[in-house]
Amino acid sequence: MGQFAAAREQVVATCRALLERGYLKATEGNVSVRVPGRDAFAITPTNYDYAKMKAADICVLDFALERLEGERKASIESGMHAAVYQQRADVNAIVHTHQPYASALALVRQPIPALFDEQVRFLGRSVEIIDYAPSGTSFLKRNVRKRITSGDNAFILANHGVLVLGGDVDRAVFNMALLEKVALDYLLALMTGEKVNKVPGPIREIAFARLRGDEKKLKRQLREARVAESLAPAAAESTAESPAPAAAEGAADEAAGVAGRAADVAAGGAAARTEPAGGRACGEPSGAQLAGYAISAYPDVAEVYARLDRLVSRPLRPIRRPAMDEYLDYFETRCRRSKELTDAAGELIPGGVQHNLAFNYPFPLAIEKAEGAHLWDVDGNEYIDFLQAGGPTVLGSNYAPLREKVAEVVAASGPVTGLFHEYELKLAELVHRLMPAVEMFRMLGSGTESVMAAIRGARAFTGKKWVIKVGGAYHGWSDQMVYGLHVPGTWRFEAKGIPLGATARTREFFPNDLKALRRKLQENKLAGGTAAVIVEPLGPESGTRPVPFGFNARVRELCDEFGALLVFDEVVTGFRLGLGGAQGYFGVRPDLTVFGKCITGGYPMAGGVGGRRDVMMSFASGIGGKSGERAYIGGTLSANPLSCAAGYFAISEMERTGAPVLAGRAGDRLAAGLDDIITRYRLPFVAFNQGSIVHLETSGVMLLDLKSPIRFARQMKPRKHMMEEMGAAFTASGLITLAGSRMYTSMADTDDVIDDALERFERVLASVEGV
Ligand code: PMP
Repeated sequence: MGQFAAAREQVVATCRALLERGYLKATEGNVSVRVPGRDAFAITPTNYDYAKMKAADICVLDFALERLEGERKASIESGMHAAVYQQRADVNAIVHTHQPYASALALVRQPIPALFDEQVRFLGRSVEIIDYAPSGTSFLKRNVRKRITSGDNAFILANHGVLVLGGDVDRAVFNMALLEKVALDYLLALMTGEKVNKVPGPIREIAFARLRGDEKKLKRQLREARVAESLAPAAAESTAESPAPAAAEGAADEAAGVAGRAADVAAGGAAARTEPAGGRACGEPSGAQLAGYAISAYPDVAEVYARLDRLVSRPLRPIRRPAMDEYLDYFETRCRRSKELTDAAGELIPGGVQHNLAFNYPFPLAIEKAEGAHLWDVDGNEYIDFLQAGGPTVLGSNYAPLREKVAEVVAASGPVTGLFHEYELKLAELVHRLMPAVEMFRMLGSGTESVMAAIRGARAFTGKKWVIKVGGAYHGWSDQMVYGLHVPGTWRFEAKGIPLGATARTREFFPNDLKALRRKLQENKLAGGTAAVIVEPLGPESGTRPVPFGFNARVRELCDEFGALLVFDEVVTGFRLGLGGAQGYFGVRPDLTVFGKCITGGYPMAGGVGGRRDVMMSFASGIGGKSGERAYIGGTLSANPLSCAAGYFAISEMERTGAPVLAGRAGDRLAAGLDDIITRYRLPFVAFNQGSIVHLETSGVMLLDLKSPIRFARQMKPRKHMMEEMGAAFTASGLITLAGSRMYTSMADTDDVIDDALERFERVLASVEGV
């Protein structure tokens, strides 16, 4: 019957199973399975009785809906099925039915929350409603496409039926049965009129993390099937189909284990998930990477802290004096023009540089050219660029295809008109598709402004005033956030020029101390309540003090318990960690998300805030905005055509190229190489990475805090100076880092670039005292 016989048989067998169980009736609904290794699927014909359906009646279509096999007209929902397969690489079977109990919920448009751990384990965090659109239309396809990025496997189509996804046909049928059972239970519970209780948040998150694990595994299997096929095209043609990747083994037994593991999280979650995400062999992309996230293995947080503590408790190991003098000599002899320029700048620009990230020991360099992984200064010296402008350029610096697209838009409209431009909408649509929690999006000029907006919006929406941040975290320089800056426990140390009142409702808690967070939320409750808890989801200072994997889910829980909004500051992580951001990676839905950096791909005016529609409407200007009721935000140049087009094209290009994953692989290679050097030279230093964010702690200054005030007072200055010297030595060796302790990698960092960098790092580290 042709090369797709197996897939067509599978569809018929599935229909039969569903018919026998009463989920399919007469001609309604439709069923499909993916053809492994091909952009194709087998699907039931339209309007044809399931009872008499045979394999020959099944249609095989490609994703453009071109017919590959079968005579009958394919289901009118074929477009919807194709969209699901294209968007969700973990899905190999789709069932759409009009089963009665779930369909009742489709009429009242009532999503099913997390009621059972087994439900979350297999169906997802909740069963959401997909907005109504008539059957068989592209509108329905679009609505489906928007929702399914959540990673959930069951959806209710408003006034229509249900859509259930599975890693294989058996799992799709199982999921369908589970959905019907849960729908019935929920309907009965609702009819009592009593409160319907959900499973505790930590259990929901753990169960969902297991489901995501399966999905990543399935995506990897599918990718491998494709790679195998592309390596052996002739064989692929002759062998027709390979079997569909099986749904992750043992999944059914795991639901029982979900509840037990909740205890770990409830206990504070130290290293709730520290095992590698994909069992990665060195140099191979892991399942998580293939799934679009830059982190291939979540760092063993407990071990990182143990090593950092050891580093801070030991004497300094700076660079040997003679070697350091040579490095400093580089600046005097090879960077003369930089010195002239920045000396002159010192007369007119406070401190001689405009940017906090500009490394200025012994003096700042003036950069003339940037391209990909490299920078050139005005004296013609070449550097490997691990600053990457502080993080936004995941595609690499000055990426030509992006520059050209932006130039086209600017040539037509200029950089700004003050009126609406289509790219504002395109960018908002893109962000919403990639991060479904961003139901609405407002573009602003910087991360700082966007944090201000998020806090103002949270206060306006909740009517509460307190804001809690993590000590040491950086959320820009607005009055209320220059509090506990860089060093945990330092309250207003940096708040010169900021009136007391401006920080009067800001509080900090020590990194990862969930008990302290709970305490502060409780105290605030007695004093009017907390409007927002704001976190950098990887941990303060872009994960310099990393969070245990389960931390964000616990913060979500606490926010829900105390009615505070959860704000994710994704200025660094948004799109660098993966297109779904840290929220996608950790599987935690914030109420508001703050954007910066990548949102314009490194072009100016990089800021934005997005999130829940009801909260975001606090910012409404134009249609729906009511003066006196709205939270005021603005900006003459905000959301200009240049920034919006740059963001839209940069993020689209990151999606097309898989840049976050490629940058993450470079980060893995760099961190592993640094770790190897540290081990070989028996240095006390610590290297670790979260994807494309690589940390190299040599002086440990970033780990000092006010828990040990005497140590802080004694060691801050010498440790800071050692870090400056390290940074200068790296620069003189052709390596630009962020303050000598952090490196951002990009898609431009090929293995050759990283290996070149490692040789340079090794030369510097070999010149450390005691080596
Ligand atoms: N939040 C975080 C986590 C950041 O890293 C930064 C900048 N590095 C900001 C906010 C502030 O962003 P901006 O510099 O665009 O004001």
